[in-house]
Amino acid sequence: MAKLIIRTRFEFTDRGRGEPQKRSVESRRHEFREIYEPYQESESQEQSKRCIACGNPYCQWKCPVHNYIPDWLQLAAEGRIIEAVELVHQTNSLPEICGRICPHDRLCEVACTLNTGYGAVTIGAIERHITDTAFAQGWRPDLTHVIATGRRVAVIGAGPAGLACADVLARNGVKAIVYDKHPEIGGLLAFGIPIFKLEHKVIKTRRNILEGMGIKFVLGATIGQDISFEDVLENHDAVFLGLGAYTHKEGGLPGEDADGVYKALDYLIGNTKSLLKFPPGEHEYTDLSGQRVAVLGGGDTAMDCVRTAVRQGAKEVLCLYRRDRENMPGSRNEVKNAMDEGVQFQFNVQPLEIIESDGVTTGIRLVKTRLGHADATGRRRPMQIEGSEETRDVDAVIVAFGFSASPELWFEDYGIETDQWGLVKASADSDLPFQTTNPKIFAAGDMVRGADLVVTAIADARKGAEGIVDYLGCREKQRDRRMSN
Ligand code: FAD
Ligand code: SF4
Repeated sequence: MAKLIIRTRFEFTDRGRGEPQKRSVESRRHEFREIYEPYQESESQEQSKRCIACGNPYCQWKCPVHNYIPDWLQLAAEGRIIEAVELVHQTNSLPEICGRICPHDRLCEVACTLNTGYGAVTIGAIERHITDTAFAQGWRPDLTHVIATGRRVAVIGAGPAGLACADVLARNGVKAIVYDKHPEIGGLLAFGIPIFKLEHKVIKTRRNILEGMGIKFVLGATIGQDISFEDVLENHDAVFLGLGAYTHKEGGLPGEDADGVYKALDYLIGNTKSLLKFPPGEHEYTDLSGQRVAVLGGGDTAMDCVRTAVRQGAKEVLCLYRRDRENMPGSRNEVKNAMDEGVQFQFNVQPLEIIESDGVTTGIRLVKTRLGHADATGRRRPMQIEGSEETRDVDAVIVAFGFSASPELWFEDYGIETDQWGLVKASADSDLPFQTTNPKIFAAGDMVRGADLVVTAIADARKGAEGIVDYLGCREKQRDRRMSN
C-alpha cells in the first residue's frame, strides 16, 4: 500500500480547474483524432498542486481500481514523472487509456473534495499526462525481479479485461498467451470507442509494452472456430475469459428491419475498421454523409454514434432520448462535446415506429414522454403522453439501446454456468476471485458484470488474475525460488 503524503495546500484558491484545451469545434467536426490537447508539463504540475490532500481521499475510493490519486498527484506536482507512473501502474493496468476515456465526471472527479465549489482536480487529464510523458521518455515496467513460475495461462479476449489480466499475470511470473478474433488488441477500445476519444497509436504503444513484458498475442483467431476451446484448455494451466457482451438490444419497433436502420456497434466498428484500413469482416462501412440521421438512445454509445455521423458529414444529426438531460446515463462531458459539435437533442421522446417507403427508411414516429416514479433501478420511468405523437423525416436511424450478454455455445460443454441474463457466474468475493463454475476457468469484464466501463473491466480482471495466481500456487513458487537463489 502506498504511503499517504500529508501536506496542506491552498493553491486551489488562486488557481482554478484548468481542463486541457480542446481542438476547435470547426476542425473537430471533420476530424477523427482526439479532441483534447495534451497538457504541457507546467500545466500538469500546476493542476496537480491544486490537490489539497484532504486526508479523506474519496476520489481514491470512487475510482474502481482505487488508484493512489493524492500520492501520484503529489509526485506529478513535483515533476517526478517516473515515480508517478510506477505508482499508477501498481493499481491500474491501462492508466493512459483510463485517463482519456473514464467518465471522470461520474467517478474520481465527482468525489474530489474541491468539486463542491472550487472545481475538481483534473485527475483524468493528469493520469494521461504522466503516463504519456513517461512512455515518451522510454519508461517501461521493470520486471527484472520477477521469477518465472513456468506456468502458462490462456487469456481469451484482448479487451481491457484480458489485457489487465495478462499484465498482472506477467508481473507474477506467469506466461500469458492472449487470443483474440480481431486483428489488433484492445477489444472495444480499438474497434468500438471512436478514434476522437482514443487514438489507435495509444493502443499500439500499450501493445508494445505488453509484448516487452513477455505477453504473447495470437490475433485473428476465434476460439471455438479457428482454435477449439478443448485445445486451449488442454494446453494451458488455466484459462481467463474476457469476451465482452455483444448482443445488440433491439428497439422492437415496427420498421426496424428497413434499409437505413443500423445497429450502433456495427456502424462504429465498420467506421473504425475503414479508417484504420482493416478488412471489414462482418462490419461493412456505412457512409452517412449528406443524410439526416436519428440516433436512438442516450448513453455513451449513442454519443459516439452521433459524433461519428457528424464527422462523416451527415446533413443533420438528431439524438432522441426518452428521459431528460439530467437523467442521461452517459458522461456529461460527452453530451456537451456532442452539443458543441452540432448534434441536436430532443429529450423526453420515445420512438414508436420507423417509417419506410418500399423498404427504405424515410422517417420516425415519436411520442412525447414525462418522467414518472422511479423503477427498480432507481431511475424515473418515462411515461408516454397521449396525443403527443409527431413524425420526423430522416434517412437513417441508428439504434443504440445497449448490449446484453453473448454467452458462447461451448460454455455448457465445459461446465461454465451463466445466470438468467446469460452473464457468466463468477464472483469478486469468492476465495479465488472470478473463478467460474469450472475451477480451471476464470472470467471478468462485461461478460460477467454486463456492459459497463473500461475501468471496471480492468478492476475485476486484475482481481481475477490474482485468483489465477493463487489457484496455480504461484506465490509459493516465487517465494521458494527466491529463497533457493
Ligand atoms: P471487450 O472490450 O468487448 O473485449 C472482448 C474481446 O474479446 C474482444 O476483443 C473480442 O474480439 C474478443 N472475443 C470475444 N469472443 C471471442 C472468441 N470466441 N475468440 C476470440 N476472441 C473473442 N467505457 C468507458 O469506460 N468509457 C467510454 O468512453 C466507453 N465508451 C464506449 C463506447 C462504445 C461504443 C461501447 C460499445 C462501449 C464503451 N465503453 C466505454 C464500455 C467499454 O468499452 C467496455 O465496458 C469494455 O471494453 C469491456 O471490456 P471487456 O474486456 O470485458 O470486453
Ligand atoms: Fe479516475 Fe478512471 Fe483514473 Fe480512476 S482510473 S483515477 S476513475 S480516470
